[in-house]
Amino acid sequence: MHRKTKIIATLGPATNSPDKVSKLVERGMNVARLNFSHGTHEDHETLYNIVRRVASDMATPIAIMQDIQGPKIRVGEFPDGEIVLATGSTVHLNPGGGLGDSQNICIAYLECVEMSVGGRVFLADGVIELEATEVGDDGVQANVIEGGVLLDHKGVSFPGAKTDLSAVTDRDIEDLEFGAKLGVDLVAASFVNSGADIRSVREIVGATPIIAKIETAFGYMNLDDILSEADGAMVARGDLGVELSLESVPWAQYEILHKANAAGKISITATEMLESMVTGPRPTRAEVADVYRSVLDGTDAVMLSAETAIGKYPTRAVKVMSSICMEAEQSPSFGRAKDISGLSVGAAFASATAEASVDTADRLGLNTIVAFTESGTTARLLAKYRPRADVYAFTPVDSTYRRMAIYGGIWPMHLDRVHSTDEMIASAESELLRRGLVEEGDGLVMVAGVPPNQLASTNLMKLHVVGSGDVLHPVSDT
Ligand code: PGA
Ligand code: MN
Repeated sequence: MHRKTKIIATLGPATNSPDKVSKLVERGMNVARLNFSHGTHEDHETLYNIVRRVASDMATPIAIMQDIQGPKIRVGEFPDGEIVLATGSTVHLNPGGGLGDSQNICIAYLECVEMSVGGRVFLADGVIELEATEVGDDGVQANVIEGGVLLDHKGVSFPGAKTDLSAVTDRDIEDLEFGAKLGVDLVAASFVNSGADIRSVREIVGATPIIAKIETAFGYMNLDDILSEADGAMVARGDLGVELSLESVPWAQYEILHKANAAGKISITATEMLESMVTGPRPTRAEVADVYRSVLDGTDAVMLSAETAIGKYPTRAVKVMSSICMEAEQSPSFGRAKDISGLSVGAAFASATAEASVDTADRLGLNTIVAFTESGTTARLLAKYRPRADVYAFTPVDSTYRRMAIYGGIWPMHLDRVHSTDEMIASAESELLRRGLVEEGDGLVMVAGVPPNQLASTNLMKLHVVGSGDVLHPVSDT
């Protein structure tokens, strides 16, 4: 059995050579994340080319996800790259970029935030907490409730305050155009607050799937609207934990994953999953429980950030994550979301065929489902019914082959373009036999569209015995 939960690893200085990327793939990375909040276009292009080369050398489907910074508000710079804010001191926040010190901090776009006296300001992922005491045209005066060290460009959040910032900044537009030129498979959009924000991203990326990072209170509130426009949702627990509160994240996670799955969309859990492995070789019990729980909550994919980008044990972190996921998938609680009736919307034949196929494989105890797909939709829907069987999804389309790497429980396969359903079944069967993934006499469930080579045509489920030579003619029961 293959691992079903997919692993996204963020690439960075700790993983920027072909050798290191090959190791990540060997240990189980399915998706490489390029984090455009850090690094130059040149850095990202280098990483992009490394991943493509490694994936092709290893003949493994790997998707590349471009994560754009979005309208994140950040502090400016400090003379030594950092300042110390003492608890109990006061500080002035100035709108605009530039150099500051421990009495004056520059914050770009501060003027776009509707602050009020008593409002909280969190710096550096919530490590430092301020309370506004005066709000004027020249900025905000604040008390330092909880002090700490503040580095250049750290993030700032204003929980609950309305902001008037566009969802896609000029920098994001440049980054997205660059990503499109490279040919990224997925785009993750940060700090989206509504379906309209996703439409702004869509205008630039066209058909590339968009993952909405749910990391603001408004984004969480408008989840349904966002899911109606996006291709998936990420529980971005880092910023979400600051925007809501740490203790409200576990339920938010459950709800976001559940709703994304119920809408037939990609679901991702991110941030601090194996955080202690940034510096140490073993995860904590709590981290293991967290990864395990996210699998039971129904996540398609789990994500590593600093662990693989700048950590000391990047390949080990992937390996540990893979083992935890596989263990969780054996749990009796692993399975499909309770309510996935929404899947019939817009793809009624495809989702009904997918559900019937998964139910049939489960009922007959068959270990293999074979799907044929052009856009990957059939595979994505099959994934949502969480089959026990391994699903091999054959496609003649390269971008679909790579993109399916993020779908839970789906194993992407290449198939040359064929001209009939019989040819399609015969060539998939010989490929599975060649790779030793099935044996003569094994029963399979096949899911396809008839006629082949058309989008959104999934309408056929066929039970097939490997090597029986029966193609579209049923085997006799006698
Ligand atoms: P980030 O997003 O790593 O880009 O901040 C994820 C999160 O906020 O959890
Ligand atoms: Mn974030």
